[in-house]
Order: sequence, then C-alpha cells, then structure tokens
Amino acid sequence: MDVDVLVIGAGAVGLAIAASFASAGRDVIVLEAADGIGTQTSSRNSEVIHGGMYYPTGSLRHRMCVAGRRKLYAYLEVRGVPHQKRGKLIVAASESEMRKIEAIHATGLKNDVENLELISGQEAMAWEPALRCTAALWSPETGIVDSHGYMLALQGEIEDHGGVIAFNTPVVRIEPLAPDGYRVMTGGAEAGAITCRRLVNSAGLYAQRVAQGIEGYDPALIPKLVLAKGNYFGCTAKPAFSRLIYPAPVDGGLGVHVTLDLAGRLRFGPDVEWLSTTDPAEVDYRVDPTRSALFYDAIRQYWPGLPDNAITPDYSGCRPKLSGPGEPAQDFRIDGPELHGHAGLVNLFGIESPGLTSSLAIAEDVRRRLAN
Ligand SMILES: Cc1cc2nc3c(=O)[nH]c(=O)nc-3n(C[C@H](O)[C@H](O)[C@H](O)COP(=O)(O)OP(=O)(O)OC[C@H]3O[C@@H](n4cnc5c(N)ncnc54)[C@H](O)[C@@H]3O)c2cc1C
Repeated sequence: MDVDVLVIGAGAVGLAIAASFASAGRDVIVLEAADGIGTQTSSRNSEVIHGGMYYPTGSLRHRMCVAGRRKLYAYLEVRGVPHQKRGKLIVAASESEMRKIEAIHATGLKNDVENLELISGQEAMAWEPALRCTAALWSPETGIVDSHGYMLALQGEIEDHGGVIAFNTPVVRIEPLAPDGYRVMTGGAEAGAITCRRLVNSAGLYAQRVAQGIEGYDPALIPKLVLAKGNYFGCTAKPAFSRLIYPAPVDGGLGVHVTLDLAGRLRFGPDVEWLSTTDPAEVDYRVDPTRSALFYDAIRQYWPGLPDNAITPDYSGCRPKLSGPGEPAQDFRIDGPELHGHAGLVNLFGIESPGLTSSLAIAEDVRRRLAN
C-alpha cells in the first residue's frame, strides 16, 4: 500500500480526521480537488461554535456537537486560534415562539448542554438594549471561531506528523482491492492512482458523487442530496449587540440570526433557499440583493431599530442536506463497514451545521470505526 489512511477532502472535517490519524502515528494523505484548504462549505458558514441544544437527543448531530464543542475550545486554546465565547440569546417574540424556546431548553438539558438558562424579556433587553423579545434562552457556551485559523492549525498538525495534503487532486474513481484496501484514481493535471488501506470520503457537497465512484458500492446506501443555499448580509450600522442573537428556528435552518465576527462586526443570516439543482457545481454563490426585504422583516422582529439601507449582500454557503423542504431533518451519516460491508471505508454524508463545531468529535468517531 502507498499509504495507510487516505482522506478525500480538505475541509474542516477531512482535515480534523486526517490530523487525528496523523497524530495517532498513522501514515496519512489528504487528496483535495481545489488548490487550498477549506475553499468550500468550511469557508462559507457562520463560524459559530454551537452549544448542541437543537438536535434530537442521542442523534449524531447532538453527540458530535456537544463532544466536538468541548474538544474544539480546548484545541483552539492550546493552538492559539482566535475564538470568543460570547454566548447567544435565542429570542421569542410570541407565545408560539416561547413554546419553541422552551422545547429547545428541554432538549438542551437532556443533551447535557451546560449552563442554559431561560430568562425574561426584561432581563434579555437589559443585557442587549437594542433587542425586543418576550423571553429568551441564554446559551453561554456558544462562541465564534476563526475557521480558517482552525483549519490552518489542523493542516500544521497533519504536516508536523509527516502527513501530506495533495492539492489540485480530484478523486474520480475508487477500486476496492483484494483482500483489502483501495486503489484511488485521481484526475487533474497529473492523473494518477494511489493505494491505501483505510479510506475516508469527506468530500462535503460531493460526497455522494465520490461514493457513486466506488466500484461495487450499493447505490441504495447512497442518500439523496438536497441543496439549500444560505445567504448572508453584512451590516453597515454600528454594532448593536455584543452577543449572538437567534430567533426561534425555522424549517431547514436556525432562522436569520445575528452573528458577530471576531472584530465585533454584525452579520445576518443564513436564510434557507432550497435549490432545484442537485449538482453542487451549479450553485451560484452570488447573493441576490432583492432578498434583503426578507432579511429586514426577519431581523426587525427582534431588532426594530435596524436602520433602513443598513444591510448589504455579503456571501453565501450551501448545505449538503439529506432531506427536502417540509421533510423531517436528517441526522449526519457516518457510514462505516458495519453498514456497507467494505472494510476500512467510511463515507460521510449530510455534514451540514453543526459540522464545523463537531469536526474533532467526528474525527475521533471515524478513527474508532477504522481502528482495525
Ligand atoms: C450556510 C451555512 C452555515 C453554517 N454555519 C455553521 C456554523 O456556524 N457552525 C458549525 O458548526 N457549522 C456550520 N455549518 C456547517 C459547516 O460549515 C460544515 O458542516 C463543514 O464546513 C463541513 O466541512 P466538510 O469538510 O465536510 O466539507 P467542505 O468544507 O465542503 O470540504 C469538502 C472538501 O472536499 C473537496 N472535494 C470534493 N470533491 C472532491 C473530490 N472528488 N476529490 C478531492 N476533493 C474533493 C472539496 O474541494 C472541499 O474542499 C454551516 C454550513 C452552511 C452551509
């Protein structure tokens, strides 16, 4: 075998997996189609370190988020990666939203999320005078991170342990070998092949396509891909909040929220724009300025003082969802040999939010599944 562990995709999740194997003394190569780390979803998100209170108890999203968050704060501290534990308020503006945040609180307690607290509207508005709400759920463990700094730290960890990231190296086809291992065919300027004992498909939006390229892999085990774009708007007004402010969640997302970057600037989004294409290459990442009307309406529910003309189109990302509008939200899929029967192989599907927060826990889970 050319290498023990081969990881496809150098986003936050693929890098975390590769770093975990490399620091455990494994020989690791990451193959990345683009010319740098984290050029897709890992650089098109809110950079929020999530608490873990939204996800059904016992789901992978719950377990990976809570464990991943704890690991991530410790990792960022040790590696000196910029981050801030600013905390977040999930606000209710009506009776029905009040019931939603009470349900999130109850799930959060079951999910072992630390220090959650339901507070009155008066208390929340005393903390954040620009806010209007009738009640709020306070999550002090929520924070923000410099996601690129985090990925650079993972890249450093991989390389310090002798691992390699090969850029401009798209995987096009995979052939299982007997009695075990894989031959991975790559395209790009220097097409070639590389053999490995363990293989991890962490190709994000392209994970289904990579899985379709594995000879003999049961197509019935490849979940459908549904794309849901998330648009962001920047804010030219003076920052009105020092904590993250989220409304009650909506179908497909967490609602148009206020996040802050590390410099304290406000940013709004993401919304949920379901796409009709299932081809990630067809996603148009430009933000349609006419969506600002929806943003003003959503944000003024909890920030009535948002001035006119204060928001401008910024960037967007795309969620690799496994279910469509109106369908129940799906869990992360970490499909190992126990599911598909191919020794040494893990396919990751549907790693949308909170994938960044979960990345170090997903890495540990994948390493455990491929321990033998
Ligand atoms: C709008 C939005 C907001 C979000 N906000 C948050 C948040 O605040 N907090 C949070 O925790 N999570 C958030 N997420 C989720 C988080 O961004 C993702 O879960 C995470 O970035 C996924 O990382 P990844 O490595 O799986 O995928 P990616 O970052 O997409 O990486 C996949 C990599 O695989 C490469 N690749 C694809 N095909 C091939 C191939 N054939 N050969 C080689 N390489 C290939 C790609 O080039 C890419 O670099 C958000 C997501 C979205 C869309």
